[in-house]
Amino acid sequence: MRVVERINDVRSTVKEWKSQGLKVGFVPTMGYLHEGHESLIKKASEENDKVVVSIFVNPIQFGPKEDLASYPRDLKRDSEICERAGANLIFHPENEEMYFNDFSTFVDMNGLTNGLCGKSRPIHFRGVCTVVSKLFNIVAPDRAYFGEKDAQQLAVVKRMVRDLNIDVEIVGCPIVREEDGLAKSSRNTYLSEEERAAATILNKSLMLGKEEIQNGQRNSASIIKIIEDSIKSEKLARIDYVEIVDSSSLEKVEEINISSIKDFPNHPFKVINDEKMQEMVKSVKEYGVILPVIVRPKEDGTYEMISGHRRKRACELAGIKQIRCIVKDLTDDEATILMVDSNIQREEILPSEKAFAYKLKLEAMKHQ
Ligand code: AMP
Repeated sequence: MRVVERINDVRSTVKEWKSQGLKVGFVPTMGYLHEGHESLIKKASEENDKVVVSIFVNPIQFGPKEDLASYPRDLKRDSEICERAGANLIFHPENEEMYFNDFSTFVDMNGLTNGLCGKSRPIHFRGVCTVVSKLFNIVAPDRAYFGEKDAQQLAVVKRMVRDLNIDVEIVGCPIVREEDGLAKSSRNTYLSEEERAAATILNKSLMLGKEEIQNGQRNSASIIKIIEDSIKSEKLARIDYVEIVDSSSLEKVEEINISSIKDFPNHPFKVINDEKMQEMVKSVKEYGVILPVIVRPKEDGTYEMISGHRRKRACELAGIKQIRCIVKDLTDDEATILMVDSNIQREEILPSEKAFAYKLKLEAMKHQ
């Protein structure tokens, strides 16, 4: 196994492998490796002929008050772990190799990166997307391996690869935990003995939520409350967020009482109680609402319907009290554009409705 610091050395090695028709797996890390990383490297070496591991503490994904300077480093130990797990090449660049003084190009993403960890770490995912796309350009792997521990990162990287047509398969790998359930993490070394004991509350609380779901609970709010209450029972714990989201879109999916969903103001499309509506009522009675509606939360605790006025009416007529909703945080203009876009292609819209809808959308777009 070789350790190289230069981009050119990685490129020439991988080129040579590829000319022999070999498949290349890639595991990007920030080093201070543990069994979690090791499981990724092992999987990569099982599924590919050659494995590259990058060890780089990427400065641009750390906020000003974060732990860039104190992030633990131990290249010698990391190399032994990589070798043992089946890696063929470690790429360990200096900052100067990765970032020119006047570096000025970033990969930024909307939506997926705004919520969850992105709320408290506003520049984090821009740094991750930028360095991961640079590493993909340097290594040019066939497959790249990421841990499910960083679930938002995994979803973000998959979306980036899709959106930018990067020719790599992203493989998600299960979380490796300590015996007491805490997910293994290089940052666990920051914890005092007392904090380390307290940290087990995270996994315990998640397991309570899992049990609740296995017992048939489908109401996100009550599952979240169980998890939150459990975490709060540990005095050293502070909650950043507890959310239930779709694992690839990261959108919140909740069962919401229809009575707390208000119509979109100025909604241009009339909901008519016609034959088609009767068919929908019948189908909703038989199968439920298959496609969740889209709502946005209002400050007073109610919701505003963005897409799904007809499905909501069908539920009302069918006597169904709750509906599955994707909950999106949207500005007024974003909400207007999505409301128009998600309705405009329907066949039965009147020309006057269409014209009014386009006018609304145009007004909203002018503000952007
Ligand atoms: P990091 O060095 O923290 O940037 O992590 C490098 C990769 O290892 C990321 O894809 C992480 O999600 C993954 N990883 C870190 N800890 C674990 C773990 N306990 N189980 C599985 N994967 C992990």
